[in-house]
Amino acid sequence: MKTLVIGIDALDGRLVDRWRLAYLRLQERGPVTVPINKERKEPLSPEVWATFLAGKHVALEFMFQSDIPFATHLHRLGHAVGKVIRPRTGLFLAAGRAAGIRMRFPLLKERTFLDDCSSAWVNNPFRDFTQRHPHHFSRVQKCVEGHIPYPVFLSSLQEDFSKDRRDILAAVRSTDADLLFCYLPYLDHLQHVFFKDEQLLRQGYGEMDQFVRDCMAAADARLILVIADHGMQDGHHTSTGYYASSRALDIAKPGIQVDIRDFYDVILASLDLPTRVENKTIAERLSALGYFT
Ligand SMILES: [Zn+2]
Repeated sequence: MKTLVIGIDALDGRLVDRWRLAYLRLQERGPVTVPINKERKEPLSPEVWATFLAGKHVALEFMFQSDIPFATHLHRLGHAVGKVIRPRTGLFLAAGRAAGIRMRFPLLKERTFLDDCSSAWVNNPFRDFTQRHPHHFSRVQKCVEGHIPYPVFLSSLQEDFSKDRRDILAAVRSTDADLLFCYLPYLDHLQHVFFKDEQLLRQGYGEMDQFVRDCMAAADARLILVIADHGMQDGHHTSTGYYASSRALDIAKPGIQVDIRDFYDVILASLDLPTRVENKTIAERLSALGYFT
């Protein structure tokens, strides 16, 4: 393996710095500009991860799925009506649960850097995540609505985190692919639900730091990239992502924040593949500079 990309949902760079987590800081690190969803006014994980993988803005939201015909249509209609008639959330969530509606990452139709190289993945939000974690989103809903006690929710979340770490480390050790992409949702739900419990968050961040250390020990990679879609403050997404890399990247320039779309070319270059910038014709390069508009 030449390159290892570790996507960590909601990893907040300020907490990484506050707790001096060396492996989550690696050699170079910094904030990342991410797309802010127009309607919700905050970064949404499907949109940010799709944009990262495709190297261009892809507007995607979570998908709702049910085994019952038309249930998702009614659910969507309910949400639309609910915007006018309040209170809505509890009612429609309950109705949705009764109709067996499950939230999941949507399908991603865009070409991604995983298509441009020899790649493997564990927990790719748009490939194997839903299959590996079918109850990831419904579980948090049940918890906050009081149907699962908080300690039960926490231990189930931690079990999934252990399984992910185990499977990712196994893939790091055994893959024949040049690129391995993995994704960890643990810190997102941990911080949404337990944001007041600093000790628990610190423990979670510490475990994530140790996990990156274990990956470094297991992988003889040229580049290890840690990337986050947003941070978290008091249980809400912040508007900035985060990256850390095991070597200096030429995208970081003083005073200019790295954009999440920039990593597409960084990843291709780390695999000795032509980047999209190199592939551009002279006309495309000039047009990108605004010559032909
Ligand atoms: Zn979240």
